[in-house]
Amino acid sequence: MSQLASINRERDQWSAALGVSVDAPAVEVCQAFEQFAHKLAPQDLAGWPMYCLAVSSLPDDYAKAARFRGGWHNARSYFSVSRHLPRDAGYGPCLFVNDLLSHELALQLVTGAQTALARRGEIETIDELLQYVQWRRPIEFLCRVLTHELGHAIEYLVDGEFECMKAVHDRLPIARANLTRNQDAYLAADAATETSRPEPPPPQVDAHGLRFTRIMAHLQYRLSMLGVDAVAHDVAGERFNQRHFAACEVALGNEPYKYIDQSFESILALPFPPEFAACQLKTRSAADADAALARA
Ligand SMILES: [Zn+2]
Repeated sequence: MSQLASINRERDQWSAALGVSVDAPAVEVCQAFEQFAHKLAPQDLAGWPMYCLAVSSLPDDYAKAARFRGGWHNARSYFSVSRHLPRDAGYGPCLFVNDLLSHELALQLVTGAQTALARRGEIETIDELLQYVQWRRPIEFLCRVLTHELGHAIEYLVDGEFECMKAVHDRLPIARANLTRNQDAYLAADAATETSRPEPPPPQVDAHGLRFTRIMAHLQYRLSMLGVDAVAHDVAGERFNQRHFAACEVALGNEPYKYIDQSFESILALPFPPEFAACQLKTRSAADADAALARA
């Protein structure tokens, strides 16, 4: 299957799974994903309101903070974003997706295209190429990013972070006000930092460990059972000091099939299968330190 056919197929699959049209506005896709997420992690999300937010529907600081990102999740985002929610059902996971291509990412794309075209003897200016850019992110991009961010939310839910923050939120009005102020300040600081940053920040290795890869492998299997053959977005691989995601999936064996009806809380309580644990690669500095020890 060609790359274009495979993208079109995935687009149709997401559209059918979420019950929206293939060119539905990002806000509509987000609302549908809020319901869909409960099919992927029913036990872990039970009782929690879930918010999926298109960055273009929020104040400008969110787009500035997200200009190099596809999306993000932070267990405390609710405290700042709650005033912008169309329906506020109380504290819960917030998944953000950057539904418009930022100018910076568009420039990276067209600069790459310009170089490739120049090799073929075709000379195009950056401004000419920018006219072909699709600024609106398609449904498959939105859903892949939301699935990735859902993986982060699940890890925080399993670790009790949401339970703990909810207790603070419900019982301590002063702490709640402080959390809101802190989150507002973090967002403003992020927006300022990202605006002055010339290129994408380095990968967040700590947030994308093997535990997260395990969650994503289970989510990918559950997606396939719901009719979506999507490739996990930005997971595993050398940039996170792990083997390639496909190799991690093989190493996990039949675990996603075996535990499809289990909560992520009970799955993550199990030790890693040994082959899967071996998917963790050493960082360059750790490998260098081992080599130095061996020589000593
Ligand atoms: Zn991530």
